[in-house]
Amino acid sequence: MEQRPWKAETVTARDVVAHRDVTLSFHCQGCNLVVELDVWKIGLRLADMPLQGLRFRCSRCGLYPSTLKVGRRNFMAGETLLTIPLKPRCWDESHSANQTAALRRVGLK
Ligand SMILES: [Zn+2]
Repeated sequence: MEQRPWKAETVTARDVVAHRDVTLSFHCQGCNLVVELDVWKIGLRLADMPLQGLRFRCSRCGLYPSTLKVGRRNFMAGETLLTIPLKPRCWDESHSANQTAALRRVGLK
């Protein structure tokens, strides 16, 4: 089966979920941790929305990440397939306020 290359602008949860070795994660600046996302959970509701337009949030500190990493699980290390600069469609002043508050909490602002 031929697979068209994934693009940051268009890749969706449905594209990713078909590949068991592919993971979605982001690096949380607040926690200084890599947070792995459950692609099945995203796919339940937003399978066909480009991931770029979705809003993710760190469940530990509440920061919104600015980039999402599509990676492949290789034996020991991970390989980055794509880095998606996030541009959430649903973003308003309350999200900006949340982000500022979260940055303050973790001491980054
Ligand atoms: Zn965090």
